[in-house]
Amino acid sequence: MSETHGWSVPGAPRHHLLSVVDHWVLFCLHLESTRAMLIRMKRCTKCKVERPTEEFAKDRSRQDGLQRHCKPCQRAYRQANRERLREANKAWKAANPDKVRTQTRRSYERHAEDRKAAARVAREVDPEAHQDRCRRWREENKEEIAEYRRNNRQQDRDYYARNADTIREKKEARRQWCVYRITFADGYFYIGSSSHHDLRFNAHKSLARRNKNTAALNGRDFDNTTLDVLVVCKNEPEALEQEATIIEDAMSNQCLNSTVPSKPSKFYWVYVIQSLKPRTDKRGRPRPGFFYVGMTTDPARRLREHNGLYANGKPGNPNGGRYTSKHRPWEARALYGPYISRSEALKAEYRLKRQKRGAGRLKWSTADHPLCRGEGPNHPWVQDPVGWKPPLPE
Ligand SMILES: [Zn+2]
Repeated sequence: MSETHGWSVPGAPRHHLLSVVDHWVLFCLHLESTRAMLIRMKRCTKCKVERPTEEFAKDRSRQDGLQRHCKPCQRAYRQANRERLREANKAWKAANPDKVRTQTRRSYERHAEDRKAAARVAREVDPEAHQDRCRRWREENKEEIAEYRRNNRQQDRDYYARNADTIREKKEARRQWCVYRITFADGYFYIGSSSHHDLRFNAHKSLARRNKNTAALNGRDFDNTTLDVLVVCKNEPEALEQEATIIEDAMSNQCLNSTVPSKPSKFYWVYVIQSLKPRTDKRGRPRPGFFYVGMTTDPARRLREHNGLYANGKPGNPNGGRYTSKHRPWEARALYGPYISRSEALKAEYRLKRQKRGAGRLKWSTADHPLCRGEGPNHPWVQDPVGWKPPLPE
């Protein structure tokens, strides 16, 4: 009942042991034939050894699709004739530039996926090296990049226009006035203030590499540096004041900030301008135009920007600021200054904005604040906003 195999003869004695050996032999024969089927063999015409076909390189022009000599023979030949083959290859490449180009391109395309994967791994393994490579590439291809930018400026503009709100929000969200400290691996440190200290850090790093930074940071090694936020501030004047105090307290041999304030190359000015755009109150009665207070090293240029103009008189200058661009045209009303530093001018601007409103900003006096300086509404710039040139520090 249990013996239902087709090959067992009913009633015949069973030689269990023999049948097991039989099966084994059959099985081995089967394996051998499978191997022979799967692994084709071929005899090398040079070394006369019979080898699996895998050990022969491909040659589509031959009947069996394989070359005559086995790979080990070819390898030996190449090694023995290395110099001669190299020269021949060079000569062939020089004689067939088109073929070389096609081959290169084909190989490049064929390996596109592998290359992308390898690049991805390399980026993840060493992001700094990747940044270095990118930087080098950008430096080597400056012309091409400039060309591309020129040709795709509209594309850039469209992108920023489409995403203006998101970009502004992101930037605003990251804005945080603070005093930061960069500590180098050798213990030296540098103190600064910024509204985006992380971006400022990157700027220091790349400028130091090009020797365009604050002198003490030029050529410094930014590897293994730490970036600390020392104080978070409400606004720029506060950050500048905190920065000055902290530098004074931290001044030591290892502090890279200069003890002597560098001579300013330009003076700073606080200007007051008024909008000439017609304006009415709720009942439709005419109202005087808005007053705006700002700070600059070049009042003529700044007024031009507020009015959306370039130096050549053409409109479209985007540096006018969001608020003032809505109330063009603007006219010069008063100029306070000179101030020897940005921080001093910022403080003056801050004070003026707080203490005086509207037309009152033309009546700021030293009695209101010691930082009030210069002729104000009677300054020559008000009469000649384009022609007046600010004096330079001596
Ligand atoms: Zn061989």
